[in-house]
Amino acid sequence: MNKLVVASNNLHKIKEIKAMLAAFNIEVLSLKDLNIDIDVEETGTSFMDNAFLKAQAIYDIIKIPVLSDDSGLEVNSLNNDPGIYSARYAGEQHNDEDNLNKLLLNLKNVNNRNARYVCAMVLMMDHDTKFEVEGYLYGKIIDKRKGQNGFGYDPIFYLDNLKKTVAELSDEEKNNISHRYNALIQIVDIIKDLNN
Ligand code: IMP
Repeated sequence: MNKLVVASNNLHKIKEIKAMLAAFNIEVLSLKDLNIDIDVEETGTSFMDNAFLKAQAIYDIIKIPVLSDDSGLEVNSLNNDPGIYSARYAGEQHNDEDNLNKLLLNLKNVNNRNARYVCAMVLMMDHDTKFEVEGYLYGKIIDKRKGQNGFGYDPIFYLDNLKKTVAELSDEEKNNISHRYNALIQIVDIIKDLNN
């Protein structure tokens, strides 16, 4: 493999993936680099389904290997909600603040606050060869926001071992423990094997 398209327009994600693949002599391209403007509808019933739908739609356009991901938050006591609806939990306006407020409302008087971030990643080499991995970050939902960094549910996602919310971590600290990182290290291993 000498080229890989990251199925995202999130510059942050692309930078992170480029850094992790730097040793492999692989040209990492974004959708923007390829002038692809596509919004794939997330109609799947799991993170993996949605990651796969994205990978396939983009592979069908450019026919070079694609890496795609889908992520979100699962809360144990809410039957793993908001799950695949994390970005639009409070409605189609996709507003982080509204989503966070809705989550806190639904967790009012709930004792079990265990949660995890999930990241499903699909590496699609061609129609017959695809690899699927999942990465997690485990934590707890707290009632009061803490920290200014990150996005989404980070200000209320508390890490027991670090005694901080994810929004209190620097970008670098988050990128070394995140669900995306934990998925990406598995993809890096797969790419290592493929390149051997
Ligand atoms: P996406 O996979 O980047 O589209 O993320 C979907 C949604 O999941 C986001 O809009 C957030 O609500 C939530 N989410 C995913 N990853 C994170 C994270 O690292 N921090 C906070 N929220 C996240």
